[in-house]
Amino acid sequence: GIVRSLWKNKIPHQVGRMCYSSSVPTTKLFIDGKFVESKSSEWLDIHNPATNEVIARVPKATQEEMLAAVDSCSRAYHSWSETSILARQQIFLRYQQLIKDNIKELAKSITLEQGKTLADAEGDVFRGLQVVEHTCSITSLMLGETLPSISRDMDTYTYRLPIGVCAGITPFNFPAMIPLWMFPMGMVCGNTYLLKPSERVPGCAMILAKLLQEAGAPDGTLNIIHGQHAAVNFICDHPAIRAISFVGSNQAGEYIYEMGSRNGKRVQSNMGAKNHGVVMPDANKENTLNQLVGAAFGAAGQRCMALSTAILVGEARSWLPELVERAKALRVNAGDQPGADVGPLITPQAKQRVDGLIQSGVDEGATLLLDGRKVHVKGYENGNFVGPTILSNVSPKMKCYTEEIFGPVLVVLEVADLDEAIELVNNNPYGNGTAIFTTNGATARKYTHEVDVGQIGVNVPIPVPLPMFSFTGSRGSFRGDTNFYGKQGIQFYTQIKTVTSQWKAEDATLKTPAVTMPT
Ligand code: NAD
Repeated sequence: GIVRSLWKNKIPHQVGRMCYSSSVPTTKLFIDGKFVESKSSEWLDIHNPATNEVIARVPKATQEEMLAAVDSCSRAYHSWSETSILARQQIFLRYQQLIKDNIKELAKSITLEQGKTLADAEGDVFRGLQVVEHTCSITSLMLGETLPSISRDMDTYTYRLPIGVCAGITPFNFPAMIPLWMFPMGMVCGNTYLLKPSERVPGCAMILAKLLQEAGAPDGTLNIIHGQHAAVNFICDHPAIRAISFVGSNQAGEYIYEMGSRNGKRVQSNMGAKNHGVVMPDANKENTLNQLVGAAFGAAGQRCMALSTAILVGEARSWLPELVERAKALRVNAGDQPGADVGPLITPQAKQRVDGLIQSGVDEGATLLLDGRKVHVKGYENGNFVGPTILSNVSPKMKCYTEEIFGPVLVVLEVADLDEAIELVNNNPYGNGTAIFTTNGATARKYTHEVDVGQIGVNVPIPVPLPMFSFTGSRGSFRGDTNFYGKQGIQFYTQIKTVTSQWKAEDATLKTPAVTMPT
């Protein structure tokens, strides 16, 4: 196929890029079915987080280029929305196979730009792939409703129809999964799509675009622009864009929700998190400690579902030394090195911020049981590494508790009972994910019913829902009213038309005008 032939001579992260003044490849824009070099004078460097070497450059697209991308989406919309649903389904059936065939190459591009381990990067692609697989059920998912005989000779039925040009703005931490939450769902419903990937990890989205083209998506159905604030403002303002899907930080997400909504667009905005893992003393100890350590430090803590806060209930506090031992055993290394468990943080600034938050915990009186700040990774001395870090005796007022750290840092609080744990979780401003570890069904049930959080795991540390369900979020973690993927995702990307029709036999024809409201 097209992509494989491109890969013959180039390493995967160069797909969608071309050489720019030096040997550093540039990321192209994807406009109207073509990978085009930006004419922008403003470019950003992309670094390998394990070495900080510049590996590529990404443009801040010009206004003209962004307009060309939206115009392409608008032009393509008419025929794409009228394309038969079976034809759209076929494209996504081919697409899911192409993603499977190219999963290793996609993962390599993720590890290079984002830093996570190769195995974890494959997981990133796989969880997005599952959403694409789910879109292949669109012939059932988009069914409307019917009610015959609502009155004499009268029936009502609904159509679910696309809404127009939709746009997605994505974060750096899941370069495959989160774009795949968005454009396949939007497009299979008949919308055309404008994607603005994270400027720190745009390479994976470019490969995904190439594969989609190879699967048969017509020119203009997906367009990709790059940039930061100006690109985001453009999306929030352009009148042809009917809906915006955003995943990222609160600072950006609240702004985009407000701007987009003010301009009459639908907006779904998934944002920050502070996920608590509640450990009951009756839990399976071995299982719980392994789950906690994996979910706190996997992906270097740069997951919105990272279990970054442990609440030890009662006697579970005695498990702390073992928790530390297990965390210590994780291997910190560049993501492409065999056996790596914890890769680097995305930027030196992210490392500096995480180091600072660890120090703030120490300064405010927490106990530093494990300090990953000075971790030495042989051969990768310039990387943004922080090793697993554990702060105990943390109290809810400390900065290390109130802020999302987004690094390999587990903060530990102790409470006397389940009620106190629930109160703590519900007093935290975020409501993204949580988990409870217990062998008691009544405890689990009480917890799941009383916490105000979107994703809840019972003995499951990172309960990211499969695509037949929806990824939700509560309170500070979500703005909007319709969530990502699943039934909610279909609802977000469609609008309803309700048709009421009457077919009377000739002898039942009205003889006089009916001037009263029909009842
Ligand atoms: P980010 O908000 O910095 O960036 C996300 C996107 O918004 C990027 O495309 C970026 O270009 C743009 N952006 C950044 N700052 C902006 C601003 N001030 N105004 C307008 N646009 C802006 O987020 P990130 O650092 O890439 O990702 C990490 C964050 O994403 C964490 O808070 C994490 O919890 C969150 N996240 C949430 C979920 C979820 O489903 N709830 C999933 C993944 C990540």
